[in-house]
Amino acid sequence: MEKKSGFVALIGRPNVGKSTLMNTLIGQKIAITSDKPQTTRNKIQTVYTDERGQIVFEDTPGIHKAKTKLGEYMVGVVRHTLKDVDIILWIVEASTFIGQSDMQIAENLRSLEKPVVLAINKTDKLKSKEAVLEIIEKYSMLLEFTEIIPLSALKANNTDRLLDILYKYLPEGPLYYDEDTLTDQPLRQLAAELIREKALRYLSDEIPHGIAVEIVKMKNRTKTLVDVEADIICERESHKAIIIGKAGSMLKKIATMARKDIENLMDISVNLKVWVKVRKDWRDSDIQMRNFGYNIKDL
Ligand code: GDP
Ligand code: MG
Repeated sequence: MEKKSGFVALIGRPNVGKSTLMNTLIGQKIAITSDKPQTTRNKIQTVYTDERGQIVFEDTPGIHKAKTKLGEYMVGVVRHTLKDVDIILWIVEASTFIGQSDMQIAENLRSLEKPVVLAINKTDKLKSKEAVLEIIEKYSMLLEFTEIIPLSALKANNTDRLLDILYKYLPEGPLYYDEDTLTDQPLRQLAAELIREKALRYLSDEIPHGIAVEIVKMKNRTKTLVDVEADIICERESHKAIIIGKAGSMLKKIATMARKDIENLMDISVNLKVWVKVRKDWRDSDIQMRNFGYNIKDL
């Protein structure tokens, strides 16, 4: 039998569990999860391969209003991703509340003429089966979905069935990636994302998305030891002080947790050094954005 393969765009509001779902499907921590929204900035491709074929998931930042250059970039990524994929997988939380941004997403999807699969995530939080039915009914009124599947990304409930559904709508095709590929992100970028994730996780809301991480150096010292040097870039001196923390305690915590993650991911010992630097208004500067790898011209 011919193998199936293709591209699936993951969309949904921040925090609905897109990264968690990727991690569950792939069985390894590759996409970045965080309790704070919008950790996934660039388009991260996660590749799932089995005997049936290959699914390339494209994680996109949520559809939202552009406030700064970075915001515009993210909206652009979403628009471009949706045009080139075979299936759109929209993930929502298991709740009957349908907000303004959900309506906006539905509006964006209506004109696309592509299979749209709705995954209702976090069903482990629901008290009854009836509650799921109620949510399905609500969403059915919003858009004509190809399929609706309730699941729990965290508990890996029904995630196998989700794969069945996706394969059903994928075309026959070649394997786009080597079968042990998990992501197309270079390790340098993954390391940066892991440091950023830890910073967002441990810092208070005062430093929302005004930070970026730049890998200044990444070099193998031996086969089993790599030296990584990174800068955490923030927008204000006051933010810098918070990121460093009392006697350097916060920065140490961020660096230690990030180092452990990078070591797990790369299966190598990591000597990680992290500094904090201030660059005012980096989010509104095209040049700065390019410095951080957000390539506006590519869109
Ligand atoms: P993303 O912003 O859409 O990528 O969301 P994340 O994957 O980062 O998840 C956001 C939060 O929701 C994290 O704290 C996850 O642990 C949690 N979460 C994700 N999936 C589930 C689920 O199926 N059940 C429960 N209870 N929590 C979940
Ligand atoms: Mg995410």
